[in-house]
Amino acid sequence: EDHEVVHNIMFNTTTNEKVFYKKTLTRSEWWDNGVLPLWITAQNQGLKTASFHFPGGGVSYNGQAVNRAIPEPEGTPRHQNIDKVMSWFSDEGFNLVTLYYGEPDNVGHKKGPDQTERRIIKQIDRTIGYLRKAIKRHNLTDKLNVIITSDHGMTTVKKRPQVEEIILNKYLNLLMLTSFEILDYGGFGILTPKPGKEQEVFDNLSKVPNMTVYKKNEIPENFHLAKSKRLPPITIVADLGFNLNSVSLCNFTKTFSFKFHLYHCLHGIIFLDHFDY
Ligand SMILES: [Zn+2]
Repeated sequence: EDHEVVHNIMFNTTTNEKVFYKKTLTRSEWWDNGVLPLWITAQNQGLKTASFHFPGGGVSYNGQAVNRAIPEPEGTPRHQNIDKVMSWFSDEGFNLVTLYYGEPDNVGHKKGPDQTERRIIKQIDRTIGYLRKAIKRHNLTDKLNVIITSDHGMTTVKKRPQVEEIILNKYLNLLMLTSFEILDYGGFGILTPKPGKEQEVFDNLSKVPNMTVYKKNEIPENFHLAKSKRLPPITIVADLGFNLNSVSLCNFTKTFSFKFHLYHCLHGIIFLDHFDY
């Protein structure tokens, strides 16, 4: 909840600038919002840390960067990445390394969760198997803690004629009533009403079928969003199987996340070596 990463698109509600997160990976101004990531906290406690493709690992926080960062997008085979990270632990004395893989998320978004052939799951399973063997090979079994974090679930977005997609401009004039929005990217949307228009926006959105609208202070606790300073005042969540659009039909994603994309940047592997809790 404190990480303030609330969407795949980084945004500035003052300038209305929106940037896909991949273009922000080396730009501190989009990530450094006063909340320290785990690796910086570890460094402040005297540990040596590294980031391997991990979102947010390629920038500085309060002027401090991770000891070693490889911020570029993935490209090298997974087993090579694991070998490299293991050598950082065993040969160079790193204590904490974050390692990111974009699967099975990428394939899941392209093909949806209902496909019968799930080759990517088998691949990831083999990768985890390789990781376990590599840890053993480097004699780190008794010293290394591995934390595997996940992303979000998925559901198939239905299309017409099965469902009518939700076009919000049919229910309220977004241009007149809002000053900022991110709405066309699946089943989750956020927006900022213009001053004095908060209740009108909320009331209009409350009438839209097949979705739920939340004011910031009414967001369910299990969303882990309400504390976020970055989150705009209104959040919209489509019912499972439905897609949100603002002014016209557009299908950016075949599937959308069940827990939205709030944690999209968090899936990956975190290694903790000799870490004091
Ligand atoms: Zn995703």
